[in-house]
Amino acid sequence: MKKTYHGSCHCGDVRYRVQLDLAAGSRRCNCRFCLKTHFWKAFVMPADLELLQGADRRTDYRGPESQWPEGHVHHWFCRRCGVRCFTDGFLVEFGGDFHCINLCTLDDASDEELAATPIQYEDGRCDAQERRPAITSFL
Ligand SMILES: [Zn+2]
Repeated sequence: MKKTYHGSCHCGDVRYRVQLDLAAGSRRCNCRFCLKTHFWKAFVMPADLELLQGADRRTDYRGPESQWPEGHVHHWFCRRCGVRCFTDGFLVEFGGDFHCINLCTLDDASDEELAATPIQYEDGRCDAQERRPAITSFL
């Protein structure tokens, strides 16, 4: 069942509210981007996310080797503290616009809720997101 959570970057310049069902699961991936940012993500639809503060405090990042068409992905980072609260994406397969919430930035999810969140591992390094990588303990 969806529940309302609040999240923020480390310095607090960027704040958001999200409707999220943590029991529906989350993902961790071993691609270079997710690994270097240690991204623990959960997908949500646009109607479930509201940026409360800090639209102008963020920087958009697109990797130099990104396979995403220009404008189809926005890896937003806080300009001041560098924390990424969520990514905006566009994929026809997902019905258009979607967001990936960085679960580590939720402020009011309990340790118990986070610990109980199922994790699906993705072998993004090999472009096989549906496959679990051989080793996941460090993700
Ligand atoms: Zn910040």
